[in-house]
Amino acid sequence: VVDAKTATIEFKDVSFKYINGKPIFNNLTLTIPAGKKIGIVGGSGSGKSTLVRLLFRFFEPQSGHIFINGQNIRDLDLASLRKAIAIVPQDCVLFHDTIFHNLHYGDLSKPHDEVYTASKMAELHDSVQTWPKAYETQVGERGLKLSGGEKQRVAIARAILKDSPIIVFDEATSSLDSLTEHAILQALKAATVGRTSICIAHRLSTVADADEILVLENGSISEKGTHKDL
Ligand code: ATP
Ligand code: MG
Repeated sequence: VVDAKTATIEFKDVSFKYINGKPIFNNLTLTIPAGKKIGIVGGSGSGKSTLVRLLFRFFEPQSGHIFINGQNIRDLDLASLRKAIAIVPQDCVLFHDTIFHNLHYGDLSKPHDEVYTASKMAELHDSVQTWPKAYETQVGERGLKLSGGEKQRVAIARAILKDSPIIVFDEATSSLDSLTEHAILQALKAATVGRTSICIAHRLSTVADADEILVLENGSISEKGTHKDL
C-alpha cells in the first residue's frame, strides 16, 4: 500500500457508533477511485470526521470493511497504513518550535528546499516572509499565534511534503474570511493533484471541482453527483 503511487478506497457496508453513542453509519458503502477527488458535505455531527478516523484506524467499525487497493485495512500494518494517508485535520496541532520545524517534522530526510516549495504551494510562504524572523519564528513566541487559516495551510504544506497516495482534507469549522478561504482552496488544489483525495467541506461550493460529491445524512449517503448535479 505504501509503495503504491495510487490508491482506491472502498467502504463496504460499514456500520459504526462510538461507545455509548448513537449510530453514526448504517451500512455505509462508497468507492473512491484511484486519483479521484471526492467531496464530502453534511451537517455538523453527520460523521464526516468520523469517516476519516475509521480510514486512519483510530476506531474500528462494528461491522463492514474498509479496503485500500483491495486490501482490508484491518490486515495492514498500522504504520504503513498511516504512511499512505496525509491528513489535514480540522484543528491542526503545532509544536512549540519554529515554523520551519513545524513544516519539516515527520520527515527530516526531506531537503530544505522542498520545505520551502511545499510552503509556497500551500500559499503560506508569502505570509511567513512578512514575519521578522520568517521561518525561524517560534510558534507561540511573543504571543505569535497562527490564525486558523494559517494553521490549516501549515497542515496542507505538511501533506504536500508527505507525498502519500491519499490525502484527506477536513475543513476547519471556524469561519474563514474569503481571502483566506481562497488561499486554502488554491493550496488544496496543489496538494491534491494526482492523489486520491477526500475533501470534507461545509459548503458545496468549496468542493465544486471534485469529481464527485457525497452528501452524508443520517448515517449514509443521501445524495451524490457533481457540483452541477447537486
Ligand atoms: P463537524 O462538521 O462539526 O466537524 P462531523 O460531521 O465531522 O461534524 P463527527 O466529528 O464525525 O462529525 O461526529 C459525529 C458524531 O459523533 C457527533 O454527534 C459527535 O458528537 C460524536 N462523536 C465524535 N467523536 C466522538 C467520540 N470520541 N465519542 C463519542 N461520540 C463522538
Ligand atoms: Mg468534523
